[in-house]
Amino acid sequence: MSRRRKHWGWGHEDEQPSAGELREAAAGLAAHLGFGSADVEAPAPVALDPPRVELPASLRGVATQDDHARAVHAHGSSYGDVVRAFRGRFPHAPDAVALPGSEDELLRVLAWCADARLAVTPYGGGTSVVGGVDPVRGSLEGAVSVDLSRLDRVLEVDGVSRAALIEAGAAGPRLEEQLSERGLTLRFFPQSFELSTLGGWIATRAAGHFATGPTHIDDLVESVRAVTVGGDVWESRRLPGSGAGPSPDRMLLGSEGTLAVVTRAWVRVRPRPRERRSASVTFPSFAAGCDAVREIVQSGLAPANCRLVSAREAALTFAGDADLLVLGFEDAGVAGFDAAVSCCEAYGGQVSEGGGGGSAAWRDAFLRAPYLRDTFVAMGVLSETFETAVTWDRLPGLVESVSGAVEEALGRAGSVTCRLTHAYPDGAAPYFTVLAPAERGEEEAQWGPIKADAGDAVLAAGGTITHHHAVGRDHRRWYDAQRPEPFAAAWRAAKATLDPDGLLNPGVLWGEA
Ligand SMILES: Cc1cc2nc3c(=O)[nH]c(=O)nc-3n(C[C@H](O)[C@H](O)[C@H](O)COP(=O)(O)OP(=O)(O)OC[C@H]3O[C@@H](n4cnc5c(N)ncnc54)[C@H](O)[C@@H]3O)c2cc1C
Repeated sequence: MSRRRKHWGWGHEDEQPSAGELREAAAGLAAHLGFGSADVEAPAPVALDPPRVELPASLRGVATQDDHARAVHAHGSSYGDVVRAFRGRFPHAPDAVALPGSEDELLRVLAWCADARLAVTPYGGGTSVVGGVDPVRGSLEGAVSVDLSRLDRVLEVDGVSRAALIEAGAAGPRLEEQLSERGLTLRFFPQSFELSTLGGWIATRAAGHFATGPTHIDDLVESVRAVTVGGDVWESRRLPGSGAGPSPDRMLLGSEGTLAVVTRAWVRVRPRPRERRSASVTFPSFAAGCDAVREIVQSGLAPANCRLVSAREAALTFAGDADLLVLGFEDAGVAGFDAAVSCCEAYGGQVSEGGGGGSAAWRDAFLRAPYLRDTFVAMGVLSETFETAVTWDRLPGLVESVSGAVEEALGRAGSVTCRLTHAYPDGAAPYFTVLAPAERGEEEAQWGPIKADAGDAVLAAGGTITHHHAVGRDHRRWYDAQRPEPFAAAWRAAKATLDPDGLLNPGVLWGEA
């Protein structure tokens, strides 16, 4: 029997801890944080309005109107999404969930949506944290969530060029399991790896665990195949690089399901790593750690892992009480390990080689985080993250002003912590985590103004509204402010050509939010 996803939070129903286990975990967490309650709440049951449209008989094997499936596909995975679903609120439940098992079936679903004027929401793993998968229908007659998860195969491997053709609905583990049979890996590990999919990564320009080098999926994509709502196939040529005008792949990368549905892509793969060296480095201050990271990347060293965690965040994740750099090199990069260590020492870093010294604890907390957030919701703890990127010259000012804006908006107990997730020669990606006592039942209203202040502070300090979480609907206000207007006009024209009735993801990236 296939496993069912939880209708509100992370993972599957069979992974949900019992009430007793939850109470015990909540008591421990509340003691550690100094807020939250061992009095855990249970999720409200699913009760949806009936679908607004009838499924054509010809699509009965391809789509469902089952309430559980509609509830699962009614939202993504932001804090707002999780609390809304936890409290039984599904304002955008789709009228149907389509699960095409082939491109032909997908085309039949799209043709139905076009005929019946239904909004189409491409759905990969539903891990969007920016309101990207809510099946908002706008002025249309209804909405259909198009779940690509049955398209999950590695179709072909070109061992000579080290590339693989993979279907868009393959989630991280399924994709890696098939590649590993050939001794290969995509080595693209976002924190949402377990559930997110290749198509979702491409559509959102996701970033993986590589802290330097090929961090965004963009760097790993060789060609993309997608279909438009009108049934046209958009397939780019497989090339290692090309200067032939604007790139068709670049136009799809980050299009967030608004132009076409990605069905498969050729991606660059590599042999599984054989050699690794890693270290935990503690610094006298976050600023000293930033200086060391900057020097490492500007020296041309390419650590696979290079996450600088603030002392406050390290303490919250049981990874010690100092500013901590989790540093790791793989294969050819290992040659740079000693130079990177010297660089850290020059800025006062205390180096401990291997998995100890806080790295292992932090990594463990990182992997558990998606599950932990469900516990936080049940125990009355507000927990959300947001991220940006900024040039090195503006980094210290941004971290200070954004942290200050969030602390002020929190107004009472709670914390905002920071880490650098990705580093470039000219800048870095700071990632913020907010934990605070939740106003139970009013969580969305509580988080909204905090998020607004954070977004404003990010833009005022010279950052982008997102380095890798995407725009969706939640970031529209800031995205609209940061993109040049002639570019927006060009995109509106592209959208009008490819999706003239505005069926694909109304309000995401363009149009009425
Ligand atoms: C706990 C957690 C950790 C996360 N960690 C990371 C991280 O480390 N790095 C990172 O980049 N992001 C991260 N995210 C955000 C999220 O995982 C990414 O945006 C991811 O790329 C979404 O993939 P998905 O398959 O779940 O797509 P979905 O959430 O299903 O969809 C995301 C967007 O892409 C569109 N889309 C999906 N599939 C297709 C397709 N085949 N064709 C066209 N459009 C499509 C959707 O319509 C939507 O607009 C995290 C999220 C959570 C909840």
